[in-house]
Amino acid sequence: MSATPSRPSAADVPDTDRRRVLLAAPRGYCAGVDRAVIAVEQALEQYGAPVYVRHEIVHNKYVVKTLEKKGAIFVEETSEVPEGEIVIFSAHGVAPEVHKEAERGKLATIDATCPLVTKVHKEAVRYAKEDYDILLIGHEGHEEVIGTSGEAPEHVTLVDGPSDVENVEVRDPEKVVWLSQTTLSVDETMETVDALKGRYPNLLSPPSDDICYATQNRQTAIKQVAEEADFVLVVGSRNSSNSVRLVETAIAHGARDGRLVDSAEEIDEAWLDGVRTVGLSSGASVPEVLVDEVLEWLAGRGWEDVEIVQPVEERMQFSLPKELRKDLRAEAKSRMSG
Ligand code: SF4
Repeated sequence: MSATPSRPSAADVPDTDRRRVLLAAPRGYCAGVDRAVIAVEQALEQYGAPVYVRHEIVHNKYVVKTLEKKGAIFVEETSEVPEGEIVIFSAHGVAPEVHKEAERGKLATIDATCPLVTKVHKEAVRYAKEDYDILLIGHEGHEEVIGTSGEAPEHVTLVDGPSDVENVEVRDPEKVVWLSQTTLSVDETMETVDALKGRYPNLLSPPSDDICYATQNRQTAIKQVAEEADFVLVVGSRNSSNSVRLVETAIAHGARDGRLVDSAEEIDEAWLDGVRTVGLSSGASVPEVLVDEVLEWLAGRGWEDVEIVQPVEERMQFSLPKELRKDLRAEAKSRMSG
Protein backbone atom coordinates (compact mmCIF):
# COMPACT_ATOMS: atom_id res chain seq x y z
CA MET A 1 0.00 0.00 0.00
CA SER A 2 1.48 3.31 -1.00
CA ALA A 3 1.34 6.31 1.30
CA THR A 4 -0.74 9.29 0.17
CA PRO A 5 1.71 12.01 -0.88
CA SER A 6 1.38 14.92 1.50
CA ARG A 7 1.38 18.53 0.28
CA PRO A 8 4.90 20.05 0.56
CA SER A 9 5.13 22.55 3.38
CA ALA A 10 6.70 25.99 2.74
CA ALA A 11 9.86 24.70 4.45
CA ASP A 12 10.17 21.84 1.89
CA VAL A 13 9.98 24.12 -1.14
CA PRO A 14 13.38 25.27 -2.43
CA ASP A 15 13.86 28.97 -1.74
CA THR A 16 14.01 29.82 -5.44
CA ASP A 17 10.53 28.34 -6.01
CA ARG A 18 8.90 29.72 -2.92
CA ARG A 19 5.89 31.94 -3.53
CA ARG A 20 5.51 34.53 -0.82
CA VAL A 21 3.83 37.82 -0.06
CA LEU A 22 5.63 40.67 1.65
CA LEU A 23 2.93 42.64 3.41
CA ALA A 24 3.91 46.24 4.11
CA ALA A 25 3.13 47.82 7.48
CA PRO A 26 1.96 50.40 8.20
CA ARG A 27 -0.59 50.41 5.37
CA GLY A 28 -4.22 51.44 4.94
CA TYR A 29 -6.22 53.86 7.07
CA CYS A 30 -4.39 56.84 8.53
CA ALA A 31 -5.66 58.84 11.49
CA GLY A 32 -7.13 61.58 9.27
CA VAL A 33 -9.14 59.15 7.14
CA ASP A 34 -10.33 57.21 10.16
CA ARG A 35 -11.55 60.44 11.75
CA ALA A 36 -13.34 61.61 8.58
CA VAL A 37 -15.15 58.29 8.05
CA ILE A 38 -16.21 58.09 11.72
CA ALA A 39 -17.42 61.72 11.50
CA VAL A 40 -19.83 60.80 8.68
CA GLU A 41 -21.00 57.65 10.47
CA GLN A 42 -21.53 59.52 13.71
CA ALA A 43 -23.37 62.39 12.00
CA LEU A 44 -25.71 59.84 10.39
CA GLU A 45 -26.33 58.23 13.76
CA GLN A 46 -26.78 61.51 15.60
CA TYR A 47 -28.95 63.34 13.06
CA GLY A 48 -30.33 60.60 10.82
CA ALA A 49 -30.08 60.45 7.02
CA PRO A 50 -29.50 62.26 4.86
CA VAL A 51 -26.26 63.92 5.68
CA TYR A 52 -24.52 65.67 2.79
CA VAL A 53 -20.82 65.30 2.14
CA ARG A 54 -18.93 67.71 -0.12
CA HIS A 55 -16.68 65.64 -2.39
CA GLU A 56 -15.60 62.10 -1.65
CA ILE A 57 -14.96 62.10 2.10
CA VAL A 58 -11.76 60.16 1.34
CA HIS A 59 -10.50 59.01 -2.04
CA ASN A 60 -11.80 55.45 -1.95
CA LYS A 61 -14.74 54.08 -3.92
CA TYR A 62 -15.55 51.30 -1.43
CA VAL A 63 -15.73 53.73 1.50
CA VAL A 64 -17.90 56.18 -0.45
CA LYS A 65 -20.34 53.43 -1.55
CA THR A 66 -20.59 52.04 2.00
CA LEU A 67 -21.43 55.49 3.40
CA GLU A 68 -23.94 56.10 0.59
CA LYS A 69 -25.76 52.94 1.61
CA LYS A 70 -25.99 54.29 5.16
CA GLY A 71 -27.59 57.54 3.92
CA ALA A 72 -24.76 59.93 3.04
CA ILE A 73 -25.29 62.01 -0.11
CA PHE A 74 -22.12 63.07 -1.88
CA VAL A 75 -22.20 66.38 -3.75
CA GLU A 76 -19.63 68.25 -5.79
CA GLU A 77 -20.54 71.71 -4.55
CA THR A 78 -22.02 73.14 -1.36
CA SER A 79 -24.64 74.93 -3.53
CA GLU A 80 -26.23 71.50 -4.22
CA VAL A 81 -27.12 71.06 -0.52
CA PRO A 82 -30.68 72.13 0.44
CA GLU A 83 -31.00 75.03 2.89
CA GLY A 84 -30.84 74.07 6.57
CA GLU A 85 -29.15 70.71 5.96
CA ILE A 86 -25.91 69.37 7.34
CA VAL A 87 -22.83 69.22 5.13
CA ILE A 88 -19.53 67.58 5.97
CA PHE A 89 -16.28 68.79 4.45
CA SER A 90 -13.88 66.05 3.40
CA ALA A 91 -10.47 65.15 4.88
CA HIS A 92 -8.75 67.04 2.01
CA GLY A 93 -9.86 70.43 3.32
CA VAL A 94 -11.68 73.33 1.69
CA ALA A 95 -10.91 76.96 0.85
CA PRO A 96 -12.36 79.68 3.13
CA GLU A 97 -14.75 80.62 0.31
CA VAL A 98 -16.48 77.24 0.71
CA HIS A 99 -17.15 77.96 4.40
CA LYS A 100 -18.66 81.33 3.41
CA GLU A 101 -20.82 79.68 0.75
CA ALA A 102 -22.15 77.23 3.36
CA GLU A 103 -23.00 80.12 5.65
CA ARG A 104 -24.85 81.91 2.84
CA GLY A 105 -26.77 78.68 2.17
CA LYS A 106 -27.69 78.47 5.89
CA LEU A 107 -26.06 75.08 6.19
CA ALA A 108 -24.74 73.44 9.33
CA THR A 109 -21.20 72.27 8.71
CA ILE A 110 -18.94 69.57 10.08
CA ASP A 111 -15.34 70.11 9.08
CA ALA A 112 -13.58 66.74 8.72
CA THR A 113 -10.43 68.32 7.25
CA CYS A 114 -7.43 66.34 8.49
CA PRO A 115 -5.61 68.35 11.19
CA LEU A 116 -2.38 67.86 9.20
CA VAL A 117 -3.97 69.56 6.18
CA THR A 118 -5.23 72.36 8.47
CA LYS A 119 -1.63 72.82 9.60
CA VAL A 120 -0.57 73.53 5.98
CA HIS A 121 -3.53 75.95 5.57
CA LYS A 122 -2.34 77.85 8.64
CA GLU A 123 1.20 78.02 7.27
CA ALA A 124 -0.15 79.46 4.01
CA VAL A 125 -2.13 82.13 5.91
CA ARG A 126 0.88 83.03 8.06
CA TYR A 127 3.36 83.37 5.17
CA ALA A 128 0.83 85.31 3.10
CA LYS A 129 0.42 87.76 6.01
CA GLU A 130 4.21 88.17 6.04
CA ASP A 131 3.96 88.87 2.31
CA TYR A 132 5.93 85.84 1.10
CA ASP A 133 5.45 84.27 -2.30
CA ILE A 134 4.38 80.72 -1.46
CA LEU A 135 5.47 77.93 -3.80
CA LEU A 136 3.03 75.12 -3.15
CA ILE A 137 4.39 71.79 -4.40
CA GLY A 138 1.44 69.62 -5.36
CA HIS A 139 -0.70 68.18 -8.10
CA GLU A 140 -2.81 70.55 -10.15
CA GLY A 141 -6.53 70.02 -9.61
CA HIS A 142 -6.14 67.94 -6.42
CA GLU A 143 -8.75 68.97 -3.84
CA GLU A 144 -6.20 69.52 -1.12
CA VAL A 145 -4.18 71.88 -3.32
CA ILE A 146 -7.33 73.82 -4.28
CA GLY A 147 -8.20 74.19 -0.58
CA THR A 148 -4.72 75.31 0.50
CA SER A 149 -4.32 77.74 -2.44
CA GLY A 150 -7.71 79.22 -1.56
CA GLU A 151 -6.31 80.43 1.77
CA ALA A 152 -4.09 82.95 -0.01
CA PRO A 153 -4.73 82.87 -3.76
CA GLU A 154 -2.75 86.07 -4.38
CA HIS A 155 0.37 84.60 -2.81
CA VAL A 156 0.33 80.94 -3.87
CA THR A 157 1.95 79.52 -7.01
CA LEU A 158 1.51 75.82 -7.69
CA VAL A 159 4.66 73.83 -8.57
CA ASP A 160 3.65 70.49 -10.03
CA GLY A 161 6.94 68.55 -9.80
CA PRO A 162 10.57 69.22 -10.76
CA SER A 163 9.76 69.89 -14.42
CA ASP A 164 7.50 72.77 -13.42
CA VAL A 165 10.25 74.67 -11.56
CA GLU A 166 11.47 76.56 -14.64
CA ASN A 167 7.99 78.10 -15.09
CA VAL A 168 7.90 79.64 -11.62
CA GLU A 169 7.93 83.42 -11.31
CA VAL A 170 8.10 85.31 -8.03
CA ARG A 171 8.00 88.97 -7.04
CA ASP A 172 11.05 88.93 -4.76
CA PRO A 173 13.51 85.97 -4.91
CA GLU A 174 14.59 86.83 -1.34
CA LYS A 175 11.11 86.31 0.08
CA VAL A 176 9.96 82.89 -1.05
CA VAL A 177 8.80 79.87 0.95
CA TRP A 178 7.81 76.37 -0.17
CA LEU A 179 4.95 74.31 1.23
CA SER A 180 3.56 71.03 -0.06
CA GLN A 181 0.57 68.79 -0.43
CA THR A 182 0.54 66.18 2.37
CA THR A 183 0.43 63.08 0.17
CA LEU A 184 3.35 63.49 -2.25
CA SER A 185 6.34 61.30 -2.94
CA VAL A 186 8.98 62.29 -0.38
CA ASP A 187 11.82 61.73 -2.88
CA GLU A 188 10.23 63.63 -5.75
CA THR A 189 9.32 66.54 -3.47
CA MET A 190 12.93 66.86 -2.34
CA GLU A 191 13.97 66.89 -6.01
CA THR A 192 11.54 69.73 -6.63
CA VAL A 193 12.83 71.60 -3.57
CA ASP A 194 16.45 71.18 -4.73
CA ALA A 195 15.53 72.53 -8.16
CA LEU A 196 13.72 75.47 -6.54
CA LYS A 197 16.77 76.15 -4.34
CA GLY A 198 18.86 76.21 -7.49
CA ARG A 199 16.76 79.15 -8.65
CA TYR A 200 16.11 80.74 -5.24
CA PRO A 201 19.03 80.04 -2.89
CA ASN A 202 17.26 81.80 0.02
CA LEU A 203 14.12 79.74 -0.33
CA LEU A 204 12.56 79.22 3.12
CA SER A 205 11.37 75.76 4.19
CA PRO A 206 8.22 75.08 6.23
CA PRO A 207 8.80 74.76 10.01
CA SER A 208 8.05 71.01 9.85
CA ASP A 209 7.32 68.42 7.14
CA ASP A 210 4.12 69.04 5.21
CA ILE A 211 4.16 65.50 3.79
CA CYS A 212 2.30 63.76 6.57
CA TYR A 213 3.54 60.95 8.82
CA ALA A 214 1.16 58.43 7.18
CA THR A 215 2.37 59.14 3.64
CA GLN A 216 5.99 58.96 4.78
CA ASN A 217 5.54 55.72 6.77
CA ARG A 218 3.74 53.94 3.94
CA GLN A 219 6.48 54.97 1.51
CA THR A 220 9.21 53.82 3.91
CA ALA A 221 7.54 50.41 4.24
CA ILE A 222 6.96 49.94 0.50
CA LYS A 223 10.61 50.85 -0.23
CA GLN A 224 11.74 48.02 2.03
CA VAL A 225 9.23 45.61 0.47
CA ALA A 226 10.29 46.63 -3.06
CA GLU A 227 13.90 45.61 -2.39
CA GLU A 228 12.79 41.96 -2.39
CA ALA A 229 9.52 41.93 -4.33
CA ASP A 230 9.31 41.08 -8.03
CA PHE A 231 5.91 42.68 -8.30
CA VAL A 232 4.00 45.08 -6.06
CA LEU A 233 0.24 45.39 -5.66
CA VAL A 234 -1.16 48.49 -3.99
CA VAL A 235 -4.82 48.59 -3.03
CA GLY A 236 -6.22 52.08 -3.59
CA SER A 237 -8.29 54.23 -5.93
CA ARG A 238 -6.78 56.02 -8.91
CA ASN A 239 -7.73 59.45 -7.54
CA SER A 240 -5.89 58.71 -4.28
CA SER A 241 -2.61 60.59 -4.50
CA ASN A 242 -0.83 58.69 -1.72
CA SER A 243 -1.83 55.32 -3.24
CA VAL A 244 -0.54 56.24 -6.70
CA ARG A 245 2.73 57.41 -5.10
CA LEU A 246 3.15 54.00 -3.43
CA VAL A 247 3.25 52.22 -6.79
CA GLU A 248 5.74 54.76 -8.17
CA THR A 249 7.90 54.49 -5.04
CA ALA A 250 7.96 50.68 -5.25
CA ILE A 251 9.05 50.71 -8.88
CA ALA A 252 11.69 53.35 -8.17
CA HIS A 253 13.10 51.17 -5.36
CA GLY A 254 13.54 47.81 -7.01
CA ALA A 255 10.17 46.20 -7.82
CA ARG A 256 10.13 45.10 -11.47
CA ASP A 257 6.55 46.24 -11.84
CA GLY A 258 3.54 47.26 -9.81
CA ARG A 259 -0.16 47.97 -10.13
CA LEU A 260 -2.83 49.91 -8.29
CA VAL A 261 -6.13 48.05 -7.85
CA ASP A 262 -9.36 49.08 -6.18
CA SER A 263 -10.04 45.49 -5.15
CA ALA A 264 -9.00 41.87 -5.74
CA GLU A 265 -11.42 41.68 -8.69
CA GLU A 266 -9.18 43.99 -10.71
CA ILE A 267 -6.07 41.80 -10.48
CA ASP A 268 -5.04 40.23 -13.77
CA GLU A 269 -3.39 36.85 -13.22
CA ALA A 270 -1.09 37.48 -16.18
CA TRP A 271 0.67 40.20 -14.16
CA LEU A 272 2.02 37.49 -11.87
CA ASP A 273 3.57 35.27 -14.57
CA GLY A 274 7.03 34.30 -13.35
CA VAL A 275 6.58 36.23 -10.10
CA ARG A 276 7.76 34.59 -6.86
CA THR A 277 7.56 37.45 -4.36
CA VAL A 278 4.58 39.79 -4.38
CA GLY A 279 4.72 42.98 -2.34
CA LEU A 280 1.41 44.25 -1.00
CA SER A 281 0.36 47.56 0.54
CA SER A 282 -2.63 49.89 0.58
CA GLY A 283 -3.20 53.63 0.52
CA ALA A 284 -4.19 55.72 3.52
CA SER A 285 -7.88 55.68 2.54
CA VAL A 286 -8.22 51.90 2.15
CA PRO A 287 -10.09 49.72 4.66
CA GLU A 288 -8.28 46.53 5.66
CA VAL A 289 -11.10 44.29 4.36
CA LEU A 290 -9.94 45.07 0.79
CA VAL A 291 -6.38 43.97 1.62
CA ASP A 292 -7.74 40.77 3.20
CA GLU A 293 -9.55 40.01 -0.06
CA VAL A 294 -6.33 40.44 -2.03
CA LEU A 295 -4.48 38.15 0.40
CA GLU A 296 -7.23 35.56 -0.09
CA TRP A 297 -6.98 35.91 -3.87
CA LEU A 298 -3.21 35.42 -3.70
CA ALA A 299 -3.46 32.47 -1.30
CA GLY A 300 -5.86 30.78 -3.73
CA ARG A 301 -3.11 30.92 -6.37
CA GLY A 302 -0.23 29.67 -4.28
CA TRP A 303 0.95 32.80 -2.48
CA GLU A 304 0.01 31.59 0.99
CA ASP A 305 3.21 32.43 2.75
CA VAL A 306 2.83 35.98 4.14
CA GLU A 307 5.64 37.92 5.82
CA ILE A 308 5.04 41.31 7.40
CA VAL A 309 7.61 44.00 6.68
CA GLN A 310 7.29 46.77 9.25
CA PRO A 311 10.14 49.27 9.37
CA VAL A 312 8.13 51.82 11.43
CA GLU A 313 5.48 51.75 14.16
CA GLU A 314 2.44 54.01 13.88
CA ARG A 315 0.10 55.09 16.68
CA MET A 316 -1.42 58.43 15.64
CA GLN A 317 -5.05 59.26 16.50
CA PHE A 318 -7.06 62.46 16.11
CA SER A 319 -10.11 63.53 18.09
CA LEU A 320 -13.39 63.91 16.18
CA PRO A 321 -14.46 67.27 14.68
CA LYS A 322 -15.70 69.56 17.46
CA GLU A 323 -18.99 70.24 15.63
CA LEU A 324 -20.13 66.70 16.44
CA ARG A 325 -20.47 67.79 20.04
CA LYS A 326 -23.20 70.36 19.19
CA ASP A 327 -26.87 70.13 18.20
CA LEU A 328 -26.39 71.04 14.55
CA ARG A 329 -30.00 70.57 13.45
CA ALA A 330 -31.17 73.13 16.04
CA GLU A 331 -28.41 75.50 14.92
CA ALA A 332 -29.39 75.21 11.25
CA LYS A 333 -33.09 75.84 12.07
CA SER A 334 -32.30 78.94 14.06
CA ARG A 335 -30.19 80.21 11.15
CA MET A 336 -33.13 79.70 8.79
CA SER A 337 -35.52 81.58 11.06
CA GLY A 338 -32.92 84.29 11.75
S1 SF4 B 1 -2.96 61.02 4.37
FE1 SF4 B 1 -2.03 62.31 5.97
S2 SF4 B 1 -2.86 64.35 5.61
FE2 SF4 B 1 -4.15 62.91 4.48
S3 SF4 B 1 -5.81 62.43 5.86
FE3 SF4 B 1 -4.21 60.89 6.22
S4 SF4 B 1 -2.96 61.72 7.92
FE4 SF4 B 1 -4.18 63.38 7.09
